[in-house]
Amino acid sequence: MNADAKKRYKDIEFPFTCPVTNRTFQSAQGLSCYVTKTLKVNHEKYYNDYINHRDSSCFFCGNKGMFISISKGYRNLCGDPICVKKSFSSHTVEGFMYRNMCSREDAEKLYENENKRQLEERTKTQDKLRKEDPLWDKKRSRNCIEFWIEKGLNKDQAEIEVKTVMMEIHDKTSKKLKENPERYADKYPTKVEYYISRGYSEEYARNKISEIQNRFSLKSCIEKYGDVDGNRIFKERQQRWQSTLEKNGNLKGGYSKISQKLFYDILKSYTKTDDILNVYFWTKNKEYFLKNDEFIFLYDYSDLNRMKIIEYNGDQYHANPKIYSSLEMPHPYNKSKEYTAEKIWSRDNVKNELAKSKGFDVLVIWDSEYKKNPQQVLEKCIKFIHE
Ligand SMILES: [Zn+2]
Repeated sequence: MNADAKKRYKDIEFPFTCPVTNRTFQSAQGLSCYVTKTLKVNHEKYYNDYINHRDSSCFFCGNKGMFISISKGYRNLCGDPICVKKSFSSHTVEGFMYRNMCSREDAEKLYENENKRQLEERTKTQDKLRKEDPLWDKKRSRNCIEFWIEKGLNKDQAEIEVKTVMMEIHDKTSKKLKENPERYADKYPTKVEYYISRGYSEEYARNKISEIQNRFSLKSCIEKYGDVDGNRIFKERQQRWQSTLEKNGNLKGGYSKISQKLFYDILKSYTKTDDILNVYFWTKNKEYFLKNDEFIFLYDYSDLNRMKIIEYNGDQYHANPKIYSSLEMPHPYNKSKEYTAEKIWSRDNVKNELAKSKGFDVLVIWDSEYKKNPQQVLEKCIKFIHE
């Protein structure tokens, strides 16, 4: 690094003789006065026309730098905020090159040293903080309740925030996976890449995967338990699986993940622990249900203290009347000829009337409505809950 590297501009040498009048000046002050008062010219113009003693381009973008004065010329930095930011950055080699006026090679060394120094410093401070407060790390992670308690929430509110954060993280991860499946293939034991990246052969990978897939097959049951028992055990498990499917299928058609996000957001509007405990939805504490002689109905969001129920309806499953006419059959799984939109409405009507007969207010939110304007729907739900 050269000694006067910190200077981003260079003074012209005095004495300086003006090419216009051949008058000679001993200092920047004298020259500046003369240009203003005698020549009556703009300083930048005078510099451009008669001095121009050094490169005036911005180090970062190459445009003209900021003008400083007749004797100093231009700074090697323009006024663009992006370039100004770069000039301050200690996270880029260019930043070091600019500030120290040095070669890329030197800047790289400086950059490395600076990073090392910062890292050491950070580790030192963090170690100290950890020693003083064992919960320090947790207080800094949005997915730990300590973080939210530190922010002033009580334990129940903090738990809600953590669940929301976890859902966000989960959503982001699965979105990333969906958009770029090859890149993450090596994270899953059901993908060949998983084994290859761990140094196994492709053959080994294929065997391993089919082993996983067959783990619950009839063949593996027989291998494990013998012919008679294997057959029986496999059949029993199939039946058990089937009956859970049916049970769940009768009780509910599955919850949508996006509804849970809305519900956690609604939950944040509660302040009392007792109120929060008496709210039911699937991923929090399972759904609240009501029975009549014929059916058991599960409700999406139930507040037993305030006697409010929110139903979050998928447009297709519940045949949104804004989309479907009464004789259409939009339900994606139940393809029976009788399962028309009208049938779905009447079933949902029975469900909602049952809740009303038990003293609940019921608000129906359509999936498409929420997706179009999540903030507005959230506000509507919060108003409904607390009115
Ligand atoms: Zn620039």
